[in-house]
Amino acid sequence: MKILIVEDELKTGDYLRQGLTEAGYVVDLARDGLDGLHLALDGDYHLIVLDIMLPSLDGWGVLQKLRRSGRETPVLFLTARDEVADRVRGLELGADDYLVKPFAFAEFLARVRTLLRRGRISEPETLRSANLELDLLRRRVSRDGQRIDLTAKEFALLELLLRRQGEVLPRSLIASQVWDMNFDSDTNVIEVAVRRLRAKVDDAFEPKLIRTVRGMGYVLESMEPV
Ligand code: CA
Repeated sequence: MKILIVEDELKTGDYLRQGLTEAGYVVDLARDGLDGLHLALDGDYHLIVLDIMLPSLDGWGVLQKLRRSGRETPVLFLTARDEVADRVRGLELGADDYLVKPFAFAEFLARVRTLLRRGRISEPETLRSANLELDLLRRRVSRDGQRIDLTAKEFALLELLLRRQGEVLPRSLIASQVWDMNFDSDTNVIEVAVRRLRAKVDDAFEPKLIRTVRGMGYVLESMEPV
């Protein structure tokens, strides 16, 4: 598995390269946007880790040119904490995920593994956890064999939670992916939607799957399908 890191901060770049190499990946490191873009276009990478603020060409520019050339290589964006609008913009431009600096290496590695796994498996038709089932083709949800009716937004929310099961999804990510809105907007919308979804999907069933992680977001427990 080959990973490209585009990061101009010397310490961060070296640290990520060393960590990923120790985790068994083949890693190239570019220190500016143009070098990164050239490597990304020439090399056969499974994943690109892309900083936003870069010399010569910023991360958005790299991503935009990469997508315009038809490359679907998964991209993990690295952003500073106060660049909320940037994150939304990155996702809109076709980034697959983002991570806010500073982050723990363990979290970074978990995101990397998830993106690599997602890229490798072909699109599943059914998403499952425990006795919960979401049929993407027929757009049907069932729990314990019982059909559950969801609104379009509830379906989209459950689909996102199931796709990223086991991961805590921040409200900002849910807002941008399901509601297409900025995370500064009224996040109450998300709480209400999660409550309704839970009432339909979790309340009358065991085990409980949707969990609130206080101050962080929501996670759908990843369990063996039954
Ligand atoms: Ca930077």
